[in-house]
Amino acid sequence: MNPPVFRFAPSPNGRLHLGHAYSALLNQRLADAAGGRLLLRLEDIDTTRCSPEFEAGIFDVLHWLGMLWEQPVRRQSEHFSHYEQSLRKLADENLVYPAFMSRGEIRAHIVEQEAAGKNWPRDPDGVPLYPGLDKALSEKKRVALIDAGKPFAWRLDMEAVLARIGRPLAWSEFTANDPSVLSRVEAGPQDWGDVILARRDTPTSYHLSVVVDDALQGITHVVRGQDLFAATAVHRVLQELLGLPAPAYHHHRLILGPDGRKLSKSLRDTGIAALRGNGAAPDDIRRMIGLDPL
Ligand code: GLU
Repeated sequence: MNPPVFRFAPSPNGRLHLGHAYSALLNQRLADAAGGRLLLRLEDIDTTRCSPEFEAGIFDVLHWLGMLWEQPVRRQSEHFSHYEQSLRKLADENLVYPAFMSRGEIRAHIVEQEAAGKNWPRDPDGVPLYPGLDKALSEKKRVALIDAGKPFAWRLDMEAVLARIGRPLAWSEFTANDPSVLSRVEAGPQDWGDVILARRDTPTSYHLSVVVDDALQGITHVVRGQDLFAATAVHRVLQELLGLPAPAYHHHRLILGPDGRKLSKSLRDTGIAALRGNGAAPDDIRRMIGLDPL
């Protein structure tokens, strides 16, 4: 049997904090315990926010923590044409549409609806769902708008997609104690509405590239933060549409800051490089995130 394949997939758009260290080291532990492989993938599709300096910082911190990963490291920005192929497949099947509403137009539409007493739905991250008015545009009008240079994003037509799939989707969630113990989680992709799959300036999206890469790299076990739990529903939909295998998932607890909030890349006191600069050793980091020192 092939060994299980795990991955740690940070975005080099800031410095790693304690939450990343937990995710990285948990991946390493589970991969080692299962006799599996561990890959590192750089999710750098947002080329305006990602930088070689942040990337070097990630390698440096992970090496210092004692992590080992296989080479070569996959850099998503080097594979845009690959994600575009998957998008093209969905476009050919009329499962995505060009969405032309600007942020301001979306906001104005929702304000108007709410003023009229409508309770506008929000996605699991609290973002109002896209109104999707442009789904009704004729092909001729779409082409005219695109030709006129009107900016747009490709959005998944969730209603059409769910009708196409025609059955509820689920995923397998495993525990950190024993990755072979799986529980079934019902996916709720309808809660996300028409998610963006590509933008004008970024020819892919987190959702699209993560499912394409997990499949391409043969990932069998995805270990990532609880903040991505609900997004797994979107990933299951894309795997289904693109004919990709579904890995098993473990969504781990989040490391919270002293204020009880999710850590952000701008928080200095929980940045690994800063802690290291203040004299912390890798085992101190392990203790801070509740992983026993090696
Ligand atoms: N790149 C994502 C992040 O840094 C993680 C994506 C994933 O593990 O699926 O939050």
